[in-house]
Amino acid sequence: MAEKRPSIDQFKGRTRLPTFAAPRRYDLRLKLDLVACRFSGVVRVALALAEATEFLVLNALELAIGDVCFASSADHKEVRPCDVVLDDEDEILVLAFDEALCCGEGVLTVEFSGMLNAQLKGLYKCAYMDGGEKKYMAATQFEAVDARRCFPCWDEPALKATFQITLDVPLELTALSNMPILQEKLNGDIKTVYFEESPMMSTYLVAVVVGLFDSLEETTADGIRVRVYCPPGKSDNGKFALHVAVKALELYTRYFSVPYPLPKLDMVAVPEFAGGAMENYGLIIYRENEMLHDELQSTAAKKQRITVVAMHEVAHQWFGNLVTMEWWTHVWLNEGFATWVSYMATDNLFPEWKVWTQFLQQTASGLHTDSLEKSHPIEVEIIHARAIVEIFDAVSYEKGSAVIQMLQSYLGDAIFQKSLSSYMKRYAWKNAKTEDLWTVLTEESGVEVTNLMDTWTKQKGYPLISVNLNGHILKFEQSQFVLSGLAGEGLWIVPITLCLGSYERQKKFLLKTRCGEIDISDLFNSFSNSLGLSEENDLEKFKEHFWIKINIYQSGFYRVKYDDKLAAQLIKAIESNYLSATDKFGIMDDTHALCQAGKQSLSSLLTLMGVYRKETDYTVVSNLIDVCYNIVKIYDDAFQDSVDNLRQHFINILLPSAERLGWESVSGEPHLNVLLRGEIFMALASFGDEKTHEDATKRFESLLKDKNTPLLSADTKRAAYIAVMRKTTVASRNYFESLLSIYREADTVQEKERILRHLAASPDPEIVREVLNFLVSDEVRDQDIIYGFSGISLEAREAAWKWLKDNWDFILNKYGTGVLFTDFITNIVAPFSSNEKADEVEAFFANRTTPAFAMNLKQSIEQIRIKARWVQNIKQEEFLPELVKQLASKG
Ligand SMILES: [Zn+2]
Repeated sequence: MAEKRPSIDQFKGRTRLPTFAAPRRYDLRLKLDLVACRFSGVVRVALALAEATEFLVLNALELAIGDVCFASSADHKEVRPCDVVLDDEDEILVLAFDEALCCGEGVLTVEFSGMLNAQLKGLYKCAYMDGGEKKYMAATQFEAVDARRCFPCWDEPALKATFQITLDVPLELTALSNMPILQEKLNGDIKTVYFEESPMMSTYLVAVVVGLFDSLEETTADGIRVRVYCPPGKSDNGKFALHVAVKALELYTRYFSVPYPLPKLDMVAVPEFAGGAMENYGLIIYRENEMLHDELQSTAAKKQRITVVAMHEVAHQWFGNLVTMEWWTHVWLNEGFATWVSYMATDNLFPEWKVWTQFLQQTASGLHTDSLEKSHPIEVEIIHARAIVEIFDAVSYEKGSAVIQMLQSYLGDAIFQKSLSSYMKRYAWKNAKTEDLWTVLTEESGVEVTNLMDTWTKQKGYPLISVNLNGHILKFEQSQFVLSGLAGEGLWIVPITLCLGSYERQKKFLLKTRCGEIDISDLFNSFSNSLGLSEENDLEKFKEHFWIKINIYQSGFYRVKYDDKLAAQLIKAIESNYLSATDKFGIMDDTHALCQAGKQSLSSLLTLMGVYRKETDYTVVSNLIDVCYNIVKIYDDAFQDSVDNLRQHFINILLPSAERLGWESVSGEPHLNVLLRGEIFMALASFGDEKTHEDATKRFESLLKDKNTPLLSADTKRAAYIAVMRKTTVASRNYFESLLSIYREADTVQEKERILRHLAASPDPEIVREVLNFLVSDEVRDQDIIYGFSGISLEAREAAWKWLKDNWDFILNKYGTGVLFTDFITNIVAPFSSNEKADEVEAFFANRTTPAFAMNLKQSIEQIRIKARWVQNIKQEEFLPELVKQLASKG
């Protein structure tokens, strides 16, 4: 018999839900059973129907659906659907009714139940120890599209509604949600917790946590109650994050000229969490080591990280939660802004940390990812919901924040801040697209922001600006910078800034075409006058002081290639210490990238690196160290016999800093010295400096005797762990066993993280295989495996790849398609550097790829091919081994 009604197939394969019904208010009741790890619930959704419909289509996933009914507000008549279909592929729940529901308002009631999953998404379980007994608590992670795993809902950011949440939970546990508790009712060993109704918000920001916590609280100057929830007995560890959050609320209230929109803000550290933190409205959830700060066990780096993360999440309460992106295409608006603003706020609270210089590390990561052919535009079309997870990447966060920085420095602080405030007020409680923000900025500044910014957000990639000086004319040419060397077609409107001989002597203009030029005679005249150069021209004096730096302070998201003369003058300027830390960073980063792309020789990069020998700025040296790591890896593949000489050369470059700083901290020393000490000794340990190994081993042995030894601070422990793991082999594994014991006994998450990061540093593939098995065992929380994979030694990359292939089904099954999963791919696949390996990886994944990691896999394979090409280029520089030998012997 033919179907009478239109088939429900019409709703399949769509990116977004049909628009005939929109939620206005959710009344959600959840009952949690933390022993059986199940939940059941009922949701009543007040709906507005824009037209008569026989269907209601909403999202649901991995839920069992019970009774469903719809009551129209007009006649209160209850009707039940004739058909209830859950479609796992499209993650939708389709309710079909015999008679069309009338246009107007009504309430849909759905009963449902589900399991608390172990995948760290939706409403999930996380294990904790309570007096030696393993128990479970429950937490939520809904962004991007997992509210649907907890309750049936219209799970799109633009479909904002109010939420009234009620929880039935065990009496002894703390229950938290977005809003303050209205009342609690006891019923035997269960309590029912009623929360106040929320303002308009998106489903991905709804949150619930039920567990055992201790808390601390403070109140902001505006009377907002802020609390941190920590594991029992560890509330002291929440003090620092609480302080930062209070400052953040006060600061953003001033900056945006919009008060914090909710009556309270809670921050809670849960034992298992996939990401770093999540900005749920009024209830920020953190992984423990992104919020808890132990004065003795935490490092300076961690303290800074906790600050930046808290600043980021609190910024989202405005940028993201109050004004929300209309669709995931615009998620960069959330992430780019929260990232940018978190640096502004951290700089305000701790100016001595100089985080704006450190911001360049973020930009560098965005520049790197975005120079891949398999990158994506900041504004990216999202077709399948499960692909959204992949755009929470360096392009959305780091490039996003960098192009904001570029625009902000072009427009100036005051106009920028005023525009953001207008934007916030105009779109409060609503949704906005990228162009809405540009419209406000254009109105406030008078600059055509939309045209300018479209070139940065609607196309992937960025330009390389080649600069030539001809007399007093500077010539510019832009071309897309692609690491693989292929020519890209992109064209940008580039805010070019430049200075000559001094930061006082500046010029700026917009380069809108492929080529452009500018007369800088005025800068030359001013320069000559300042030096008192005569008609006869004191050429020596001129040469000594003359330099031109493009992209002042690296505020633009592009790279620069100078002609040979300009490049040589810049090297002199670095040696004479005429340049800012940001510019020194930028010159190194650009040269490194040009070298990877085959546009510059490795020998010229090595020459440049030598110039940074006396550098003391933390961020500049830290970048230098990163370049050293990278070059050692690639050089090892090109000239393996001579790689020890290269390591020795880098050791020579880094030793003066190590001698200056020493292993032990000095009371009251600058924060940045502490950061640098940790990184310098880690690098020396990695490169195999004998003296560092000796010292590190001695200090490690003191740690084994006394875990509070003054010889090894939290900030230098990682260097010692690397040193002992680099000496670990199957035949010599005592220190490895000791590290495992420290891991097992550690009572802070920071210590566990530190150890996990370096266990796989052993050069022995057999040990690394053992470590990989350990990482996926019950001894390591799922959330923590990411630390372990990032530290796999180069010597063991082949063993790690074999391990991944051998265990693929197990890994896929255990880690599913979450954010953690991509770490297996990027850390194990990307370290290779030959085309044969790239082919092998492609073949293995030919029928194993899923939307959750497809882009990451493609990027990883592309990186292998880029390195393969780089290795070939380096091999052409036949004289390199001799040069490196000379450099190494210089000391
Ligand atoms: Zn964020």
